[in-house]
Amino acid sequence: MIAERMKNLHPYVPGEQPKDRTYIKLNANENPYPPSPLVAKAVEKAAKKYAKKMALYPDPDSNELKTAIASMLNDCGGVLARAKVCGGKKNGSGAKVEPCPADKIPFTVTPDMIYAGNGSDEVLSFVFYAFFDSDRELVLPEHTYSFYPVYGGFYNIPLKKIPLNGDWTLNKEKMLEAANENDSSIIFANPNAPTSLGLSRSEVREMIKAAPKDRIFVVDEAYVDFGGESCIPLLAEFDNLVIVRTFSKSLCGAGLRLGYVVSSPELVNYITTVKNSLNHFPVDFMAQQAGIAACRDTGYYAECAKSVAFERDEFIDFLRAHGWFVLDSQTNFVFCKKDGVLGEEAYKKIKQEGILVRHFNTPGIEEFLRITIGTHGQMKALCAVMENI
Ligand SMILES: *Cc1c(COP(=O)(O)O)cnc(C)c1O
Repeated sequence: MIAERMKNLHPYVPGEQPKDRTYIKLNANENPYPPSPLVAKAVEKAAKKYAKKMALYPDPDSNELKTAIASMLNDCGGVLARAKVCGGKKNGSGAKVEPCPADKIPFTVTPDMIYAGNGSDEVLSFVFYAFFDSDRELVLPEHTYSFYPVYGGFYNIPLKKIPLNGDWTLNKEKMLEAANENDSSIIFANPNAPTSLGLSRSEVREMIKAAPKDRIFVVDEAYVDFGGESCIPLLAEFDNLVIVRTFSKSLCGAGLRLGYVVSSPELVNYITTVKNSLNHFPVDFMAQQAGIAACRDTGYYAECAKSVAFERDEFIDFLRAHGWFVLDSQTNFVFCKKDGVLGEEAYKKIKQEGILVRHFNTPGIEEFLRITIGTHGQMKALCAVMENI
């Protein structure tokens, strides 16, 4: 009764969302802050003034949203935590934003360089479908976003997993060697998950230069807004680069399901073709309105990203002072372990105290905890628990 292909499916397991008690949720890398006040206003207006539009199909290509995303990227240079916020309210809402000089994109990102979809997980699945073949291995790090192997199984794409270096950084040389051996594509998250470490833009540039030119090179920038270096400026140099980004982390919008690609108009068209062969309308009318409003309040989200980065650095100092080994994070989470403490035990102890963090049973990283950065109050509560572990 069941199709043969079902045996290749090994579904992704997200961070738990328990209903039995109210936990402080630091296990899914969600943003602890609410979206911009402009988002709530836009949704309210859409529900009242434009209610009739819900009876109609939305814009299949989210054109207004793509325009808004492009201007947000031009305004902030693709890294919110490093952007300069001038004026506006105390929370940054309504402020003017300028990129940090090192992030300024040396061209204008245009709407035809954007593909907008239903969360970056869906966007990634279309990227896998459009660009990776089953006749050659896709090269990726051994420890990276665990949805990539799920899609590998779904689309029957063989994977070549390259172990990380001893210091948990990506083994660039081995990844390039493997890619050149089979003329393969490469994918990784930058900064990477769950390690929280990032490559600089110039390191990625050197990688793309040395990778197969006729294969797509994918960089997933889900976390870059918290202080990494975006590769968007590299789109001026390479026509095989595809950058995937999301509203779920830095844009306080995991519940909205919005993700996007930044690439050349030509590659964006291929992704649109996949979309139009599966689901013509992946981004609903309400999400489009919410997303547009979010992109128009870059100052607010820049302040949120700065707060998260500040709390993160304080938390890392705290953990190190208490004997934890913590990787240098450029994301909204930290990856840490302590000698003599089992990852699973620590996870359970913290859960008992009403705080959820993430522990992976994956060989090689089972000693670690991945902890999302929350508000100041949430981090204080967590520190009180971790002090005694
Ligand atoms: C969270 C995350 C995503 C998925 O984001 P959604 O837009 O919520 O689907 C993609 N890639 C990485 C590396 C992530 O951590």
